This record gives sequence, structure tokens and C-alpha cells, in this order.
Amino acid sequence: MPGFELISSEEQEAVNKIFKDGGILFAHGFDSVRKNFTVREFEGDLQEYLGSKHALAVSSGTAAIKIALKALGVKPGDEVITQAFNFIATIEAILDIGAIPVITNVNKTLNMDPIDCENRITDKTKVILPVHMLGVPAEMREIMNIATKHNLKVLEDNCESLGAKYEKKFLGTIGDAGAFSFDFGKVITTGEGGMVSSNDHRIDKYSREYHDHGHENNPDLPRGRDTKTIYGFNYRMTEMQAAVGKVQLGKLNYIINENKKRYVSFERNLSSSVSRRKIPEGSEPIYDTFILFIEDKSKRENVVNILHKEGFGTKNLPDAIEWHCSSFWNHALSSKEIDHSNSTKLLLETAVAVPIWLKRSEEDYSNLAKKLNL
Ligand SMILES: *Cc1c(COP(=O)(O)O)cnc(C)c1O
Repeated sequence: MPGFELISSEEQEAVNKIFKDGGILFAHGFDSVRKNFTVREFEGDLQEYLGSKHALAVSSGTAAIKIALKALGVKPGDEVITQAFNFIATIEAILDIGAIPVITNVNKTLNMDPIDCENRITDKTKVILPVHMLGVPAEMREIMNIATKHNLKVLEDNCESLGAKYEKKFLGTIGDAGAFSFDFGKVITTGEGGMVSSNDHRIDKYSREYHDHGHENNPDLPRGRDTKTIYGFNYRMTEMQAAVGKVQLGKLNYIINENKKRYVSFERNLSSSVSRRKIPEGSEPIYDTFILFIEDKSKRENVVNILHKEGFGTKNLPDAIEWHCSSFWNHALSSKEIDHSNSTKLLLETAVAVPIWLKRSEEDYSNLAKKLNL
């Protein structure tokens, strides 16, 4: 997830321009004095890239998930189904609304197991929340079919896979809404930041109002006299973040192409007998992580040691497994959900993630694969 690896004078100049143009750092109002609408432009660029009807820039990916769940009508006591290999933010967003997180296991794609998802539907289920972990699509055809059959909404957590596609569609545009993150570890970054995407005017309207204290931004009225029908919160993005985001978005296709070269170079030098993450048919991943399954503990520890010694690290498997596997979250989940997640924990404990860094060359990756000697 290398957006930060490419931060340069271009992002700096984009921020400087906002100061040179009068220093309006806020996305709303000040229409008579402002020269730029940078957040609105960033949203336009994102919409165009994804081919979605609406994009709303917000303060974080976690905020984007919460806003989208509210826009989809999730109320206290409703159940939201998400997955055991995940990031804690998804659970926090569900809990913050007073809704109940229900966990499915993942299969060898390391994303939501559609069979387990269908098994966990109850009368209280409102939304299915698949998470496209580490650049690879969830099995969206199956998940969308289940949602249609049971009359449920789908929110895609696409915080980790901006630019990846499934059956020719960008992830985050397949379900009813998509949540994205631009935090400093993500594919592209604005330092902190996020986005809600959708093709439904009502979802966009609710999200826009909710993220801005209920402001309808009525074009006929000054902001101080603005109309409102709901109360919201403040999850706004600043002009500075959007200025960085616009430049980073321009680098996204380059990032994906360069990732792929390194990924292929690693794979080509790996023995075909090594077990690896299953990539669903019809996927175009963003190739930012290569995941191996190594059952044998000492063999696995040896691989992890080499990855550290050679300066690659393992990103979240196993380095940050406690933050990415729900069976460790007894501070947030019921014991029923913790117990249910156990089979995902057992699978993840055999996994090793090889991060793809742009600062490392294709040759570094072919050498690494040879050194692992699997
Ligand atoms: C990063 C991330 C989030 C949260 O995004 P923030 O912008 O850090 O709040 C949510 N879900 C997943 C899967 C993530 O990787």
C-alpha cells in the first residue's frame, strides 16, 4: 500500500497553491472569496475514476463506513454481517451506531465466505459488509445474490483495494455503497481521509448532510441560514487533504502497474507447489500484497525472519494479526462472535504476507522469492 512512498514536491506544491490562492482551507462556504473548490474537485476526480454517480470525501475510512451504514438505514439493534479477517474500524463503525456486528469466517480468498454469510442471516440482519482485504476482491457475485435473495443492502469496505476490479467493475461500486480510506497506509493517501461512493442519490444526499452537521447546502441561502432536516456530525475533509488526494489519485494507475511487475517477478520465482491466497475468478487485484500459506511452523518462522532481515516486513500477517483478526477482539465482540471466528484465526496463523514496496525493485522481488527457498 505504497501511496506514501511516492509523496513528493508535487503534493507539497498542491498544498502551497491553496495558501497562495488565499488560504481557504475549508470545503464549504466562502464562495465570494475562494478561488478553489478542491474537495469538490477531488470528489469529481474520484467519481470519474470509479465511474460511480456519487463520491463524498470525508475525514476517514472509519467515518465513511459509519456514514454509509447510517445512510443505508441501519438502526440500533440491527445486525450487520462482516468478516473475521478485517480491520477493527469496521466493527467500531457498526458499534458506534448501536448496531450488532455478526462475523463470518473467510475462505482461502481471505475474504468473506459467502456460505457462512448466508448461514448467519437472521430477522435482524440489515446490511452485509464484505471487506476487500489487501487488494483482492471478495466473491461479490455470490454475496450480491445472497443480498438480493434476502432483501439486504451491501456496503463494500474498500479501504484497502482502491483501483481493483471484479467482473470489470471497480470495487466499491458493486454494492449499494462503498467506503474508502486515504489514511497514511493506504493505496493513495491524504494523511487521513476517506470517501463514500454510491450510485443512489438518496444515499449520497443523506451522507452529505450527515457528515456536515445536517447542512443541506441549499444554493439559495447563505450557509448560516441553511436548511436542515436531520442532525449529523462533523466528518468533513479539508482542502489541504483534497489537494494531496488529487495528486495521489493521478499516481494510482502507475502504482498498480508497478505493483504488478514486482508481484509477477516474485511469483515467477516461487515454486508452484507453494500454497497461496485464492484469487476469485473475474478479479483484477491491485497486487500490493502476496500471501502464502505455510503450515509448517518452523518453515513459516524462517520465512518471516527472512522477510524482516531483508527489510520487507510482513505488513499484517503475522506482524499485526491482533488488529486484523476478530477472534482477538474480546474488548468489542461477544464471546459467540469470538468463538465463531476461530477457524479464520487458525487459517490466518498459517499465512505470511509479502508486502509489495515500490522502493524495492523487481529484481529485489525475484531474489527474495529465491532466498525464501520454498
Ligand atoms: C484502513 C481501514 C479502515 C479505516 O480507515 P481509516 O481511514 O484509517 O479510518 C477500515 N477498514 C479497513 C479494511 C481498513 O484497512
